[in-house]
Amino acid sequence: MRKKYFIAALILAFLLPSCGGGEEYRKTREIMGTYVTITVARGELPEMVVRGAVRDAFEEIERVDRLMSTYKPESQLSEINRQAGIAPVKVDPEVLETVRDALDVARRTDGAFDPTVGPLIRLWKIGSEEARLPTSAEIEKAKELVDYRQVVVDEPASTVYIKKKGMALDLGGIAKGYASDLAVSLLRKRGLTGGIVAVAGDIKFFGTRDGGRPWKAGIQHPRREGGLLARLEPGDAAISTSGDYERYFMKDGVRYHHIIDPATGLPARGLISVTVLSKESYLADGLSTALFVMGPVRALAFARAHPEVEALMVTSEGRVLATGRFSGMDIEAVEADN
Ligand code: AMP
Ligand code: MG
Repeated sequence: MRKKYFIAALILAFLLPSCGGGEEYRKTREIMGTYVTITVARGELPEMVVRGAVRDAFEEIERVDRLMSTYKPESQLSEINRQAGIAPVKVDPEVLETVRDALDVARRTDGAFDPTVGPLIRLWKIGSEEARLPTSAEIEKAKELVDYRQVVVDEPASTVYIKKKGMALDLGGIAKGYASDLAVSLLRKRGLTGGIVAVAGDIKFFGTRDGGRPWKAGIQHPRREGGLLARLEPGDAAISTSGDYERYFMKDGVRYHHIIDPATGLPARGLISVTVLSKESYLADGLSTALFVMGPVRALAFARAHPEVEALMVTSEGRVLATGRFSGMDIEAVEADN
């Protein structure tokens, strides 16, 4: 899994200098169990200011991880989960905001995105050495503990409460996007005129390269490792890709991946890759996961009804579905047999 993220980071790294110039300042660090790459235009700023801003932008992403990781028992998110059915937990504004955003995406997508998917994620353990096929009884039991309506956010008190014991929040489908939004606001505040913050497949772009040239983005091909499905100039926007090729295991020729349909408790079927472009990264992130769960018919209808988001999707038969600026692109069908 690490290898895949590293390759994605490499693609991005190679793509940029190939557009000419290459004087950008770029650093990669391992955070949130993945590779984070920040690239910025230097503009007229002194080297020290550029380096300081990038260092602090990484710190923002590390802070999101410390607060919201389900892998860290000391995170505020882990405390919310331990206190499920017991008591509300006082949290930092960033946690409150991300939970509120996650619940908002859940409502807008009718629960296709559900941040209380935690019990199912714990059951499948996809992406870890212990990943396995659960029994249908186990799936049914975990499914009963998934319901975003049981989460209470109290803004004035700055608390989050999960009403039912055993339930658990998992912000893995939205926190990377949120972190890249925070990092980009910091870079802008420090006077940087352009940059890219890439947290694995959640990438936010702002401004331009030195000389006013646009940033270019490459979208990972879902079945050709290191290959690109499409290239575009996103402008001031975020792109997020959810795929079944990032974290998965194979059993009897069937691929079991990490995006779970809360309605069935099983890995979502019908799509193998979903890219969403929108102004904000948290929204692109949440919606790429949500559209993946919806499957081709519902996802295409959703994207068409929401012109503020643009989507590029590949079905499990390898068909390409596109809205917004993606629909004008010439993208080949994908060979996909599992
Ligand atoms: P992404 O790569 O952004 O699509 O996020 C995938 C991650 O989101 C998974 O590893 C889980 O942590 C979490 N997740 C899986 N299924 C769902 C779902 N239906 N709703 C919300 N989050 C999910
Ligand atoms: Mg997502």
